Amino acid sequence: MTRKKFKERYDFECAACGKLQWAAPSMSMIHWGRNQGHGSCIECKTFLHLEITPDMFGKKMKSEVWDDWLEKQDRKCVN
Ligand SMILES: [Zn+2]
Repeated sequence: MTRKKFKERYDFECAACGKLQWAAPSMSMIHWGRNQGHGSCIECKTFLHLEITPDMFGKKMKSEVWDDWLEKQDRKCVN
């Protein structure tokens, strides 16, 4: 039997409703190599931007409502 690999879970709280949930890094996140991704809240279905924020206790993700996050990117003019 092969041990499962790369099945890490990242806890995050929905930025819109506060529902605690988790997600596994998507292929696109690995592909981008930017520790960022997106997904929908299991509770309120809000589309969220997710960012992995490792801390000393494990790995977590920070969530932001997609539209809010997009707005910030525009303001910062990143790349
Ligand atoms: Zn939610």
